[in-house]
Amino acid sequence: ENKGLSDLEIAHNATILPIEEIAVRAGINVDALELYGPYKAKINPAKLVLPEGKAHGKVVLVSAMSPTPAGEGKSTTTVGLADSLARAGHKVMIALREPSLGPILGMKGGATGGGYSQVLPMDDINLHFTGDFHAVTSANNALMALVDNHIFQGNHLGIDPRRMTFKRVIDMNDRSLREIIIGLGGPAQGVPRQDGFDITVASEIMAVFCLAADLDDLRTRLGRITFGYTFDRQPVTVADLGVEGALTLLLKDAIKPNLVQTIAGTPALVHGGPFANIAHGCNSIIATRTAQELADIVVTEAGFGADLGAEKYMDIKSRIADVAPSAVVVVATIRALKMQGGVPKDKLSEPNVDAIAAGVENLKRHVGNVAKFGISPVVAINKFASDTDEELQWLLKWCAAEGVEAAVADVWGRGGGGDGGDELASKVAAAVQGPSNFHHLYPLELSVEDKIRTIVQEIYGADGVEFSVPAQKRLVDIQKNGWGGLPVCMAKTQYSFTDDASKLGAPKGFRVHVRELIPKTGAGFIVALTGAVMTMPGLPKEPAAMRMDVGPDGNPTGLF
Ligand code: ADP
Repeated sequence: ENKGLSDLEIAHNATILPIEEIAVRAGINVDALELYGPYKAKINPAKLVLPEGKAHGKVVLVSAMSPTPAGEGKSTTTVGLADSLARAGHKVMIALREPSLGPILGMKGGATGGGYSQVLPMDDINLHFTGDFHAVTSANNALMALVDNHIFQGNHLGIDPRRMTFKRVIDMNDRSLREIIIGLGGPAQGVPRQDGFDITVASEIMAVFCLAADLDDLRTRLGRITFGYTFDRQPVTVADLGVEGALTLLLKDAIKPNLVQTIAGTPALVHGGPFANIAHGCNSIIATRTAQELADIVVTEAGFGADLGAEKYMDIKSRIADVAPSAVVVVATIRALKMQGGVPKDKLSEPNVDAIAAGVENLKRHVGNVAKFGISPVVAINKFASDTDEELQWLLKWCAAEGVEAAVADVWGRGGGGDGGDELASKVAAAVQGPSNFHHLYPLELSVEDKIRTIVQEIYGADGVEFSVPAQKRLVDIQKNGWGGLPVCMAKTQYSFTDDASKLGAPKGFRVHVRELIPKTGAGFIVALTGAVMTMPGLPKEPAAMRMDVGPDGNPTGLF
C-alpha cells in the first residue's frame, strides 16, 4: 500500500537483487554481461547465447491518451503490467527508454515509472546511468567539430556554412543555446557561422542509435546522415566526410542494451531515448529485439499520446524491424479526462463526472486511431488516490458501451508484483493471443505531402495541412534528392491533437501548420515541424532542480 512515500523513497526501500540473478531469470548467459556496478549491466549481443527454436516474443505497446503535463503513467503502467504478467506466470521482459536530464532537472520528472512500479536503481537510471547519452552527445559533437574543421581547413567539399541542418547537442533544457555564433575571434579560431544546440534526445544520432539493427547497420545509417548542403545545394553526408567509422567507434559500447530490474524483480532493458514529440519516441530496436529473443511477452512504451509515440512506433519503427505490436494499451486517467473536459490543473482532484464525460472524446479518438492500425486496444485506467468509485465506474461503463476492453490498474499504489494489475494483465494476455490484423497507416509510395495529410486527417482529425513557404520549397528538394519514399516523423505538441497545445478534447475543423521539413536520411524519416515545437526545450520558472540535493551518504534527495 502506498503510504505517501516519494518514488525515490519507495525505490530506496525496495529489495534490489544482484544483476547476475536477474540475468539468469531472463535466460541471459552470464558471460554476455558487462557489469556497471552490482545492479546494472550491458548485454553484449555478440556473446548472447539464445535458446534454440524459441519463437520471438510478442510485443505489447503501451501508449496513452493526451497527457497532462505530469504524464499519465505510461512508464508506471508498463512496469506494473509487466510485473503483473510475470506474476501470472508469463516469461516477460520490459523495453523502455532512458531518461533525459533536460526534463528531469526541468519539470516532468523521471522516466523510471512511479510508486511500486519502478525500474531500479531509479536514481542511477535517471542520472548518468551507463553513459549512453554521453556517448551519443560525443558522437554528435565530434561530427560537428569535424565539419567545422573541414570548413576551416579549406572546405574542399564546398560545404555552405549557411545551409547546415545539423547542430551541436547537450542533454539539458537550455534555451540560451538555441541560436549561437561560433568561430569568433579571428582567422585562427575557425570560420564564423550561425549555429545552435538541440537537446541530445532530439539528435538524429539518437534516432539512428535507436533504429540500428547492429553495429554494421549503425555505421551505414551514420554514414547516410545529411548534415548540410554544398554551395551548389547538394546534400553532404557523414560518408562524404569519411567519419562514420569514428562515430560508430564512439558508440560501440553504448549500443549494447542495459539490463536492470523492476521492484518486483522483472528484467528490463532500458536503452536509447529519443523524444516522442520531436523524434520517434521509443527505445532502441536492439533492446526490443533482444527482449523478444529472450521473453514470450515484451512490454514496451512509446512516448506521449497515441497520436505521437504510437503512430511513430507503427509507421516508423515497425517498418524497420519486425517489432509490430500484438496488443496496444492506451493509458487513461481520470485526471487527464477532466483536463481534456476543460477542468483547470488545480481542480483535477475534485470529483467531476460531467467533465470526464466531456473529456472522454479525447480518449475515444485515441482508441479509434489505434484501431486504424488493425489492433483493438485495451484501455488501462491508471488509478490515482483522488479518483472516486463513481468516476471509475462511469469510465468502465463507457468503455463497455464502446466495445473497448478496459481495466482499472493500481500498479502505482499496490505494485504489479502485488495484485494491482492482475485484471489488466489477464486482458492484455488475452489480447496478445488474439488475431492481429496489424498494418501501417500509409504506404511509403505516397508523396511526403500526402503522408503528412494522411496522418493529420486520420490521426489528428484535422481538415488538412498548410505548408509554410520554406516547407513547400523543402518538399521540392526532398523529391529531387530521392527521399520521397521515407516515412514521416511528425513533430507536434503532445497536449493536443492540433498543433496548438491549448486546444483540448477532440477538436474538429482545424488545419495543421507545417513550418519546416527536415530530412533525417540516416534515421530514414522526414521530420515535419508543426506549430511551435522546439528541438531545444527551456527550463520552467521553478525547475525541479531547486528541490534536489545529495546527502552525506551519497544518496540523492528530491529526485521525485
Ligand atoms: P509517463 O510515462 O506517462 O510520462 P510516468 O509513468 O513517468 O508517466 O508517471 C509520471 C509521474 O506520475 C510519476 O512521478 C509517477 O510516480 C506519477 N504517477 C503515475 N501513476 C500514478 C498514480 N496512479 N498515482 C499517483 N501518481 C502516479
